[in-house]
Amino acid sequence: MAVYQYRCVDHGLLEVARPIGTAADREPCPDCASFAPRVFTTPQLSFGSAANRALLDRTECTADEPAVVSAVPSRRTPPQVATNPALARLPRP
Ligand SMILES: [Zn+2]
Repeated sequence: MAVYQYRCVDHGLLEVARPIGTAADREPCPDCASFAPRVFTTPQLSFGSAANRALLDRTECTADEPAVVSAVPSRRTPPQVATNPALARLPRP
């Protein structure tokens, strides 16, 4: 989804969320129902860190394009445990 901005002559800017590439040239204003022309703005591509952007992208993808599993996940091998004798003396939970 992308947020597109439109400007109503009487009520100012309004934002409409649409899938990328599907923005109309004009949108009806929610206050007066007159058609507001689109305002072209710079894309807001950098929200926070790369990890935050990746999280937002993954979250958005799960809504629009959920991942499909086509096979049963393989069995995990148990993690390798260090065999240091000093670690064996540590208390266990
Ligand atoms: Zn308006």
